[in-house]
Amino acid sequence: MNFADLGLHDDLLSALAALGYEEPTPIQAESTPPIVDGRDVLGQAATGTGKTAAFALPILDRLRRDDAARKRREPTALVLVPTRELAMQVSEAVHRYGKAFDTRVVPIYGGQPIFRQLEALERGVDVVVATPGRAIDHINRGTLPLNHIEIVVLDEADEMLDMGFAEDLEAILDATPTDRQTVLFSATMPPRIGGLARRHLSDPVNIRIEKPKVEPGEAPKVRQTAYVVPRSHKPAALGRILDVEAPEAAIVFCRTRVEVDELTETLNGRGYRAEALHGGLSQEQRDRVMSRVRSTTADLLIATDVAARGLDIDHLTHVVNYDVPAAPEAYVHRIGRVGRAGREGVAITLIEPRQHRLLTNIERTTKSKVLVEPVPSVDDLRARRIEMTTANLREALVDRDDLDRFRTVVDELGTEFHLADIAAAAVRLAHLAAAGDDDEQVEIPRVELGKPRKERPDRKPADRTSTRGPGDKGRADRSHDRGRGEHQRPEHRSERGRSRLHDKIVEEGFTRLFVGTGRRNGLRAGDLVGAICGETDLVGKQIGAIDITENFSLVEVPSAAADNVIRALRGTTIKGRKTSIRRERF
Ligand code: AMP
Repeated sequence: MNFADLGLHDDLLSALAALGYEEPTPIQAESTPPIVDGRDVLGQAATGTGKTAAFALPILDRLRRDDAARKRREPTALVLVPTRELAMQVSEAVHRYGKAFDTRVVPIYGGQPIFRQLEALERGVDVVVATPGRAIDHINRGTLPLNHIEIVVLDEADEMLDMGFAEDLEAILDATPTDRQTVLFSATMPPRIGGLARRHLSDPVNIRIEKPKVEPGEAPKVRQTAYVVPRSHKPAALGRILDVEAPEAAIVFCRTRVEVDELTETLNGRGYRAEALHGGLSQEQRDRVMSRVRSTTADLLIATDVAARGLDIDHLTHVVNYDVPAAPEAYVHRIGRVGRAGREGVAITLIEPRQHRLLTNIERTTKSKVLVEPVPSVDDLRARRIEMTTANLREALVDRDDLDRFRTVVDELGTEFHLADIAAAAVRLAHLAAAGDDDEQVEIPRVELGKPRKERPDRKPADRTSTRGPGDKGRADRSHDRGRGEHQRPEHRSERGRSRLHDKIVEEGFTRLFVGTGRRNGLRAGDLVGAICGETDLVGKQIGAIDITENFSLVEVPSAAADNVIRALRGTTIKGRKTSIRRERF
């Protein structure tokens, strides 16, 4: 099925083409057409299956075709989501797909100052993406007008119920027009979801993507490993994993053409020999790519599922899922490319902390276990490189034929130096020539698979700061990368015991805080951002300059939040230690 078959407006098809989406995911193929037709839909789908686009595209389609709706100040669509992280993600997706016709989308969630949301609502909005608690606050204030709502989406409904939002959801749905369209997505379908659906959906189309049946013994012999990586660290993590795995030939699957092109460029820039393959290439270009891969001029083929269909590369040792595929079937197809003819193949999957459910689905479908491993550390990489150098030398020692002309060098140097020193220096030269210098390598943060911290209903703010799920670390790292550019990697700049920031004027509206831990305890800017975002309502991009010295750190936070940050961080640990924190003294 093509996107063109989904019944969407041409503007949306162009937006999808520009994003490099090649074909709808199963959940999109099944649920987008009925939503476009105005039917209520009850769909079972987890994060990472492409369900956001499945409902966002029909919403945008409706707006695109309705000038009056787009001129109205009041919203036409309301999307309810469990967490503020998801509110931001969904709202970014709606913005991305609907850019061509200036769709106005506002995320509304607890923790953000309400006046900012009021201003946005006041200016006029087409789509509101809200957490239930904050939506109720606005409804009670009369600042979220619902009389023009034509479509309500409940996204991750099971999570919203788990988080105690049941009453809020009922109240919100009751406050919207009865002739609205309602779409409910949930990763699981416990009886409570059935109840909610019976009360609020009318004659819904039920969508459940059937799991493919894999016959026992049919699954290929493949070592399957997943690495949990925050999105922003994926290119570096992939490079590290490839270095450690040293595949003979690998295919790396991405979801979109754009991602294929970007990743190919990044990997080539880092010294790998990568070729891109996607549906945007002509037959001639495709043939050229394939002949380079077959003649082993390229070690890595970066491809979309569509482009790689039907490819057969017999020396392939590794399949890498740069993104978890949206459906387990795709996973099965992808890894079926290695492990043929009794050889062991390797399947590697990069997974983001939130995507734990996709992995469970895959394990269930393939009836096999995917081992979750930490991304190799810099030390692991160094150890692996030394191992490879040792293996190369061992080979050279076995094949002694052509060592004689080098022995004269050893004899000559042997009059000045110890033999062991000469050998070590030669090993170093060989090692650097083969493996390169690893001084540039930076640690990739270790995160765990799991759900992100859940936002409590807004009316209980005290609950909000006390818990931190492992998924948060991923988000914090991402936020850090989006932080204000100038101070992205300041930890490399300061001298021992002295911070560059001491001499700088604090930016207006910011307060500089002193944190009593630094590089000596392994602290990095991402850890500080993670701790602050995890314990307060700030997000990464609100945090200002950071400087990490050997023994202490300085971080600039919005002045209005300074006391809160101090209070929140005093009660917690950073990198496993209790740490002093106060305003900077001069
Ligand atoms: P979601 O399950 O909605 O969180 O989507 C997961 C990821 O898949 C997002 O990064 C989307 O941009 C991407 N995505 C969604 N639909 C497609 C598609 N048809 N082709 C390629 N990528 C997609």
